[in-house]
Amino acid sequence: MTFTSLNLIDPILRGLKEEGYTQPTPIQQQAIPHLLKERDIIACAQTGTGKTAAFSIPILQLLSQNPPRRGAIRSLILTPTRELAIQIEESLKSYGKYLKLRHMVVFGGVSQNKQVSDLKRGIDILVATPGRLLDLMGQGYIALDQLEIFVLDEADRMLDMGFINDVRKVIKHLPAKRQTLLFSATMPDEIKKLAASMLHNPARVEVTPPATTVEKIDQSLYYTNRSDKRKLLLHLIKEFEIGSALVFTRTKHGADKVARFMSKSGFNAAAIHGNKSQNARQKALNDFKSGRISIMVATDIAARGIDIDELEYVFNFDLPDVPETYVHRIGRTGRAGKSGMAISFCDASQLSEWKDILKLIGINIPVIDNHPFPLTDVEEPPKAASNKNVPGFNRRKNPGRRSGSGRRN
Ligand code: AMP
Repeated sequence: MTFTSLNLIDPILRGLKEEGYTQPTPIQQQAIPHLLKERDIIACAQTGTGKTAAFSIPILQLLSQNPPRRGAIRSLILTPTRELAIQIEESLKSYGKYLKLRHMVVFGGVSQNKQVSDLKRGIDILVATPGRLLDLMGQGYIALDQLEIFVLDEADRMLDMGFINDVRKVIKHLPAKRQTLLFSATMPDEIKKLAASMLHNPARVEVTPPATTVEKIDQSLYYTNRSDKRKLLLHLIKEFEIGSALVFTRTKHGADKVARFMSKSGFNAAAIHGNKSQNARQKALNDFKSGRISIMVATDIAARGIDIDELEYVFNFDLPDVPETYVHRIGRTGRAGKSGMAISFCDASQLSEWKDILKLIGINIPVIDNHPFPLTDVEEPPKAASNKNVPGFNRRKNPGRRSGSGRRN
């Protein structure tokens, strides 16, 4: 299937071509036709599936085809984090390059002055995080009474991050007659309830449940002592000549410590987490995207929405408490059909977390036991042997050694 067969208008097709997109991803194939018919939709899709384009493209097309209403915000995309908001706006810019629609992004943590002056100029599509949006609505700078299309992005994350009441407050200000799109990686009961209250006869779209997606990513596990994790990370990055990696830690403090250790060891490393200013986070992200920083250490919330096309390695320096987060994290690599690598460390305190992750993803992960920092903090170290029957195990002993350079060409 091509984008042309989705009946997209020429200016959008040109934008997509310049982005290098040749084929719509499954979520785009399924969602776009419903959305162009102005139907509501509930979509189960995680980051990395191409979901941003799945909602951005139809919004751009519908708004450019329907007569404009001067001065009114016509579409709102509500998303949980600033980084995601910025990336969605960048997508609108790329796909809508040849259209005259105006869009902007508002999020907290920065002065509101520029956002307010941009809003006053009038915009068609607003991308926003809930807190700043409500703030600006309260001050009378944003009215949503003329809204035509509302997108709730990453609804389950909104719930996890405690934003769901803010979301409900926003919805109260929307006109009853509108098109509504809900995207969520998982569908907890609370989100199903919210969906039932805000969607009208929605089309249901579901792509790549976590287990199928994670199968495409080369994963491996290293049991090691907590105190050896930094040395093991350094060892693997050198051993596999890794050019760039995203490293997940559980705490902000941990992220800083790992980034400092890697910097001292001669790598360009940076940490991003909620304690850093928005500008510092954005700068680190840009430096990582451009290759000036090779090791980015992040906590889950700060990393939400990081979108790097060529990200090859994800390290779970600490395993996440919530198994679904493992899937979110490793979904940063292996995007849009590319392959990727996810390397996880498990210390004595996280053995049960690892079990829960394996249960969720339903596939076994090779355990690499020939490394210099084995787990000794437990009476009986877990064995790698149980994985020896797993298809694919031993396929490549060193999970990172793909080519001499360690980087994919
Ligand atoms: P998302 O799930 O929206 O975060 O998108 C994941 C990545 O896939 C982003 O880097 C997009 O630029 C890329 N992408 C989205 N749609 C396509 C497509 N049809 N062809 C190639 N890449 C795409």
